[in-house]
Amino acid sequence: MKTDRHAIWVKPTVVVSKCLEFDACRYNGDKLKDEVVKLLKEYVRFIPVCPEVEIGLGIPRNTIRLVNTNNGTHLMEPKTGDDHTYKMELFAKTFARGNQEIDGFILKSKSPSCGIYGVKVYSKLEKSSTMFTRSGVFALNMKSAFHQIPIEEEGRLTNFEIRRHFFTSIFTIAEFRRMLSQGIDAKSIIKFHTRHKYLFMMYNQKATREMGRLLAQMEAKKINQTAYLYFQNILRIFKRMPSKNSTTNVLMHIFGYFSKKLSKSERDHFLSLLNDYKNKFTSINVLNGILSSWIKRFDERYLRQQSFFTPFPAQLIIPLDSGKGRVIKN
Ligand code: SF4
Repeated sequence: MKTDRHAIWVKPTVVVSKCLEFDACRYNGDKLKDEVVKLLKEYVRFIPVCPEVEIGLGIPRNTIRLVNTNNGTHLMEPKTGDDHTYKMELFAKTFARGNQEIDGFILKSKSPSCGIYGVKVYSKLEKSSTMFTRSGVFALNMKSAFHQIPIEEEGRLTNFEIRRHFFTSIFTIAEFRRMLSQGIDAKSIIKFHTRHKYLFMMYNQKATREMGRLLAQMEAKKINQTAYLYFQNILRIFKRMPSKNSTTNVLMHIFGYFSKKLSKSERDHFLSLLNDYKNKFTSINVLNGILSSWIKRFDERYLRQQSFFTPFPAQLIIPLDSGKGRVIKN
């Protein structure tokens, strides 16, 4: 079982917009503070990148924007009329080819290069109205080249649930990727599945059962093939945040291990908190804390190993919650 000592966690590889905590590379020469990126520095292997600097734009530089033209959306510099679309496309494609083993992205919102959601596309190069919104050019290329890999904007990670989902995804993906790179065997993949069973069930019960079947039918000569298919399922599972209902089902299931051993008041207390959780009055951490204390008290070894309780280093659990950010279906 993993403890909270981060030294034993596999460090996910995460591409990050360089202006977030890493370099003063914004158009105006600024660097942005970001609490989540700062917090993650010790626990992930960051690949900081500033696509605009990479295509040769200076610091400081003129602002650029997305403009709707007869030939589609272009990345333009209003002051000079220069079109940077092709350079940016080329850089993005080269970057994707050179960085295949990526577990996640944290990109700067609203940027015509890095923004993932709602970047404005103007009707003209000059001052004009917004025609529609889309992703920035670099971000769009990353979404297409790494369509199964978690990708988030820094602003959305101030939302507790989005952040929890993102951290869970990148640490689990990184762990399995490491196993794949070290040469996987049947025993280790089954052990992995056993340890993540309740976490995966919280995300997607049907897919978890399919993954179980895949492992049950695993042939000794085709372990690599099975591991690849299993990995695709992990990526698929993390494309959606877990629902309150499926999380509640797993919490109830785990509660079932203890319910007969508890006093009525303990049971009532837990069920009342579960109800609060369903109604968004309390967080999953509160329920996990209670279940974890019962795991220790009743020495439930099977549950003790479950990643459901600690899917990423506990040091990354911080109370920051802006409440901002919608759940976006990819
Ligand atoms: S948003 Fe992207 S392109 Fe803009 S400064 Fe930050 S890293 Fe560079």
